[in-house]
Amino acid sequence: MYLADRMNNLGTETAFEVLAKAKAMEALGRNIIHLEIGEPDFPTPEHIAEAAVKAIREGYTHYGPAAGLPELREAIAHNVNHTRGKGVNIDLTQVVVTPGAKPIIFFTLLALAQKGDEVLYPNPSFPIYESMIRFCGAKPVPIRLLEEENLQLDLDDLASKITNRTKLIILNSPHNPAGCVMPWTHVETLSRLLQNRDDVYVLSDEIYKDMIYEGQHHSIISVPNMIDRSIILDGFSKTYAMTGWRLGYGVFPKALIPHIIKLATNSVSCAASFSQRAAIQALEGPQEPVRAMVSELRDRRELIVKGLRRIPGIVCPKPEGAFYVFPNIKGTGISSHDFQEQALSESGVAVLSGTSFGKYGEGYVRLSYANSQENILEALQRLENFVATKIS
Ligand code: PLP
Repeated sequence: MYLADRMNNLGTETAFEVLAKAKAMEALGRNIIHLEIGEPDFPTPEHIAEAAVKAIREGYTHYGPAAGLPELREAIAHNVNHTRGKGVNIDLTQVVVTPGAKPIIFFTLLALAQKGDEVLYPNPSFPIYESMIRFCGAKPVPIRLLEEENLQLDLDDLASKITNRTKLIILNSPHNPAGCVMPWTHVETLSRLLQNRDDVYVLSDEIYKDMIYEGQHHSIISVPNMIDRSIILDGFSKTYAMTGWRLGYGVFPKALIPHIIKLATNSVSCAASFSQRAAIQALEGPQEPVRAMVSELRDRRELIVKGLRRIPGIVCPKPEGAFYVFPNIKGTGISSHDFQEQALSESGVAVLSGTSFGKYGEGYVRLSYANSQENILEALQRLENFVATKIS
């Protein structure tokens, strides 16, 4: 079959493949514990669901503006100004609402990066970054994480890789898969590095900003000299357990907005109108369900870190945010890919190989703790038995 050359550059998100395989095993009667997929196992809060039902009844079932409903863009701008530090004062015209947050990655890269350009991104990280950088014809430049610093981005590595061809730097805090939260000192260092490079943009993926157990969220957009070249990615999927609603957004410098809207018009047209109406309720309604979810995730984090640290050959840094642990499994002697495959086939525990997140992920696996404490305990027991059979 003939395919355009660009398809050779497109990667994937292994989580969906492992999920499909695990589901197929379940259909054959196997008991599987899912620690592979990155979505909260909580229901969307009731008041948000009710707002969507009301919106459908009121006729929000048609196309809306490509950039999103103005009332939602306004609510997002208000929320961003209250969550990203004192000096941040964006307005609704800087917000573009999309079906899920993923298109913000795609649109930003399509607008800013092409052949001959370099894009710096953390490695390991959300696999769509590298995939999309390649797809747009630009060169992905991986930046390592430092295990001795709780898997923080290696800023020396980053500084050494900025060249005349650098167009964009992608940040992600809290980080998927490592769970680290970027401290303020890192944000400052980074903005100092870019002081004389106002041609370099930063895409700051902040989709896990509400899931922090230690430290605080700091956004690069709060640094005055970065406002005009920072893009924030955020959305409703994680904070409000709305992965299936497909609703995310980007905050862009004003000069980029017409181009991003043109990309939206050419691809998705707009996000679902009733989802957008419900999202206003998500932002402006009670936040208690979010607090309850984060509190439960905090307990699960304790449980899973403690359990993994008990397994010989596994070293598990304590994540500060998101809902993933990214233990070092080198001491087990099993490669990351084999760990993913064998833990599933032999123990019925679905996890992801660190290499699903980039080449520097070898020696690690990612486990999502968006699952019940009971299932996490059972998974830990199975993994302990699994590793014991390999080490002995
Ligand atoms: N960014 C990161 C770091 C993610 O982990 C995800 C989803 O897993 C996304 C973006 C995309 O979110 P959405 O489901 O809203 O498209």
